[in-house]
Amino acid sequence: MSEECRDERFLYMISCFRPRLKRCIRVQPVLDWLPSLSAEEKDKVRAAALQRGEVEGAEELLCAVERGRRDPGWFTEFLLALKKGGCDLAACYVNPSQLPSPQEEDDHDLCVHLVQLLHGTLVDNMQTRQVAEKCLELGISQEEDLVGIETVIESRGNRDGARELLSRIVQKKDWFSQFLVALRETQHESLADDLSGNTGGTEDKDYELKNNTGKKTEAASQPVYVTEDLKQQENLDDSFVRESSVLETSVGKNSVISESVAVGDASVSNSNENLGQSSTTSDSGEDEAEGRASPEPDLTLRDYQMEVAKPALNGENIIICLPTGSGKTRVAVYITKDHLDKKRKASEQGKVIVLVNKVPLVEQHLRKEFNPFLKRWYQVIGLSGDSELRISFPEVVKRYDVIICTAQILENSLLNATEEDESVRLSDFSLIIIDECHHTQKEGVYNNIMRRYLKEKIKNRKQAKENKPLIPQPQILGLTASPGVGGARSNSKAEEHILKICANLDACRIMTVKEHASQLKNQVKEPFKKTVIADDKRRDPFRERIIEIMQDIQKYCQLYPKSEFGSQPYEQWVIREERRAAKEEKRKERVCAEHLKKYNDALQINDTIRMVDAYNHLNNFYKELKRRKTAESDDDEEPLVSKQDETDEFLMRLFHAKKKQLKELARKPEYDNEKLMKLRNTLMEEFTKTEEPRGIIFTKTRQSALALYHWIMDNPKFEEVGIKAHFLIGAGHNSETKPMTQNEQREVIDKFRGGSINLLIATTVAEEGLDIKECNIVIRYGLVTNEIAMVQARGRARADESTYALVASSGSGAVEREDVNIFRENMMYKAIRRVQEMPPEEYLNKIQDFQLQSIVEKQMKAKRDQRKTYKKNPSLITFLCKNCHKLICSGEDIQVIENMHHVSVKKDFQHLYHKRENRTLQDKHADYQTNVEIICKDCGQVWGNMMVYRGLDLPCLKIRNFVVAFEDKKTTKEIFKKWGELPIIFPDFDYASHCPSSDED
Ligand SMILES: [Zn+2]
Repeated sequence: MSEECRDERFLYMISCFRPRLKRCIRVQPVLDWLPSLSAEEKDKVRAAALQRGEVEGAEELLCAVERGRRDPGWFTEFLLALKKGGCDLAACYVNPSQLPSPQEEDDHDLCVHLVQLLHGTLVDNMQTRQVAEKCLELGISQEEDLVGIETVIESRGNRDGARELLSRIVQKKDWFSQFLVALRETQHESLADDLSGNTGGTEDKDYELKNNTGKKTEAASQPVYVTEDLKQQENLDDSFVRESSVLETSVGKNSVISESVAVGDASVSNSNENLGQSSTTSDSGEDEAEGRASPEPDLTLRDYQMEVAKPALNGENIIICLPTGSGKTRVAVYITKDHLDKKRKASEQGKVIVLVNKVPLVEQHLRKEFNPFLKRWYQVIGLSGDSELRISFPEVVKRYDVIICTAQILENSLLNATEEDESVRLSDFSLIIIDECHHTQKEGVYNNIMRRYLKEKIKNRKQAKENKPLIPQPQILGLTASPGVGGARSNSKAEEHILKICANLDACRIMTVKEHASQLKNQVKEPFKKTVIADDKRRDPFRERIIEIMQDIQKYCQLYPKSEFGSQPYEQWVIREERRAAKEEKRKERVCAEHLKKYNDALQINDTIRMVDAYNHLNNFYKELKRRKTAESDDDEEPLVSKQDETDEFLMRLFHAKKKQLKELARKPEYDNEKLMKLRNTLMEEFTKTEEPRGIIFTKTRQSALALYHWIMDNPKFEEVGIKAHFLIGAGHNSETKPMTQNEQREVIDKFRGGSINLLIATTVAEEGLDIKECNIVIRYGLVTNEIAMVQARGRARADESTYALVASSGSGAVEREDVNIFRENMMYKAIRRVQEMPPEEYLNKIQDFQLQSIVEKQMKAKRDQRKTYKKNPSLITFLCKNCHKLICSGEDIQVIENMHHVSVKKDFQHLYHKRENRTLQDKHADYQTNVEIICKDCGQVWGNMMVYRGLDLPCLKIRNFVVAFEDKKTTKEIFKKWGELPIIFPDFDYASHCPSSDED
């Protein structure tokens, strides 16, 4: 590229990211490294910084750079000065090849926001000097920063020093996780905990800190064992993250997730054709089976329902906020009918679309609410996407009056709309109802749909000024049990969160029951709440043995963490070490770290469920390892794969030496953790108390749900009191446990309704939406997520005299976090009230600002995404086996199937790996994946799976198993967790060229 052209690009970058750049430049150290800048210019910059602050100084500096000489090398000098001056992040923003991805940028912003939220606490409690020194040691800040901070401490004291430190640290690149480490290692554990937050929680979640985001560390102090993750995209978008399952493919950020069950629903690619939705139409006859043979039920509203519905009946856009069990959907049905009746009377076209965020809700709403009340007058259809319907979505919209579907179906159709095409537009509808509308934020599907609406609204304002015809806009109705506070820690942020949701839904107001509150209270009974605390101070020889092994390994590889065995920080540390060692090609350290992680898992399992579950976790790992090391190729009798090296032998020996002892200990129930006893007592008590008991235990991971299920099945005492248990877990794929299909889920829910099952052991999949019969006992087993989840879980306990219990160990912090949730719930109601009482003009102004902001953010993001796509060329990268560093293939060998599966099409690739059945995953049957793993022929490292795609056997690679080498100017190596993190777009799989030619048949 010519120098001139490069200069142009630099200038362009500066113009694009000016506001951001200004916030992350410290002018003084940068000036030191800019010899070509004239002394006068430098003085001007310094003066600006001194008199008007760093940001203005940075502005002056950028102006000087723009005005400056354009000799060859000028911008390179500037770039270098930024780097040497400690402004790494700024350097990334002027360098097109290092531009942070929108995701990274969001993560950064979120972390900055967190620091702002906790600014007071940090300033009050931080030993600034220690933290500053640690930051330097960890490489997130520079000598310059330390000196600057120390000067401030000396002249103005610790608090000002802390402010200085914080203002500097947020200007750094990838600072957050390291900053947490710095806090932890300087005895600021609780500050680090506050900062990393704790509002998340999902069984599939990963706890690695690689991305340094607050989001990913939310549940940092909860035990977790299923951290492996086969999915390449995750729904980590919402402020609280639940189990990602097929049920929710439509709320995620990456709508192309397309977990194989509901392809029609989630994949964007095929939506222009027939959607392949399932349809359950008005005359499906299912109602009769439900015993609803009566002509039509009476559609009336209770007083409190009417109270919140009123503005919508007058055509206003509103959000209705009604608790679980209060007949929220019935209100929507009533408004729908009223709306269509009025349109009919006025001889206007009326059309209602009801958007939901989980597939099972489509059928549920249709069958239980919309169809029984409306079918006599209107054509109602439900589309969810798991079977075949051979008419296109636009056709469905044309034919039916009420369409109930997942939001993704509408979004796909809008995405594919072109001008001339007869496609779906928002203006085809006269009323849009959005269920669980608190998801209308950030990059969620709901919000993408609503952004189109907001754009049209703004355009209409212009049209009106010019006396041009307006685009017709539908009425919007949002429904939610609890909008949440979006992780806010202050009242003003909570209020802002509520306002943003209102803005995103273009709501004139948010409605809660006031006048008829007592009637509502009678309708929705609050359960009796109790907290059961287990004291974990007893002897735990199983744990002691495992820690001994871990200490041996640590000594062997000379890696020493600063955190406690079995803790979340330990896990994060060990994952970091594994990646580092892989990049640095230090095999011994990498393998040891991998094993330490497994032992740490075992400690966490031992803390939550039985010792035997922990034992099995380890034993399976070692069994699998052994098999992999001795795998044979399938066609010929090649010799054993791997040279087992010293490290492998050491680790194997270590485990086998203690194996018998561990196994024996695991058989002694007296050493099992006390939480289990408490859970047992609670269950016994509650199930003997009532005539027809129904209960749910919420737990964090699928593994723990299954283990608890086995624990109950193995224990005849439970059967004696009449407990009939089953698990209820998500449908998404995950490496260690088999998912449930939607049909299996439905079957379990039906049995629970009928009574042949009376205790569900569920992951968070059952918290929201699903129509589960009301329970008299809801137990959260060590699981605390956020205020929305709490409200929804509690809402499951609806029967008379019901109990809501939290079972947790004293040291886990779960009780404290539950208190935080209660506090947040109150904060939410207060915030809603303040929004409701806001003067109309102020409300309107704020809403309009947020709406503009939302649109601008989206546009910026789109621009950056576009730029990102041609950032790197596939030929620049190569993939190396993570374990033995053998070259596997180049980026040019990779092609993508259905936007998610990355397969290698390298010629003769099959000579590099062995195929082997994965016995731990035997039960798993994803649509494309087979049970066959592919492993490195040289070292036995797993690379991925074989997949069957339209009759072809293809090697599908998991990016996490490779070191990626970039051959840019100099070679850099990196590890990625998801394919999406690579700044490269790979071509789609070329099916035709891989088909066997016909004469081979
Ligand atoms: Zn290898």
